[in-house]
Amino acid sequence: MPHHPRFVVDSMLGHVARWLRLLGYDTLYYRNIADWKILKVAEEEDRIILTRDLGLFRRARKRGLRAFYVEDPSIEKVLAYLSARYGIRLEFDKHDTRCPECNTPLRYTTSIEEISPRVSKDIVLKYREFWICPHCGKVYWQGRHWKSINQVLEIARSERLKLVSRFVPRERPLSSEQGLE
Ligand SMILES: [Zn+2]
Repeated sequence: MPHHPRFVVDSMLGHVARWLRLLGYDTLYYRNIADWKILKVAEEEDRIILTRDLGLFRRARKRGLRAFYVEDPSIEKVLAYLSARYGIRLEFDKHDTRCPECNTPLRYTTSIEEISPRVSKDIVLKYREFWICPHCGKVYWQGRHWKSINQVLEIARSERLKLVSRFVPRERPLSSEQGLE
């Protein structure tokens, strides 16, 4: 399996952090963090910097770090770009997902015994699959908001297709025996 890219996002991109974590990508986010700390953690932990700050983006590139300047913060666009560029998958994988709150890998469970002390009875009766965060203790399930999560991913996938088809014509064929160049 290819190595998962890891990210650190600036304080304006909390929503992107939550999405990347949901999709299983190790993503650091702090509400307040100095730019130099973002640069440091990116360097030390080989993380890709995502930022809306052009100054920070330029400083990162100058230091030879991988960085992505987020021009349009709409989540569908951001995910599409990150997928085209770093190959992140735009599918939810129930066995490879992280806590949107704290970035810890979640544990999947269908055990009612394990879940019932933690959530209301209605939820236990209504849902079969759950995810538990071993760090902050939060429990997740695919509730009503799940539909909109799928919609966002679907739009992101079609945005990615548009991006990729824009890139493809630039590639040269491996063989140019036709001499049509
Ligand atoms: Zn957590």
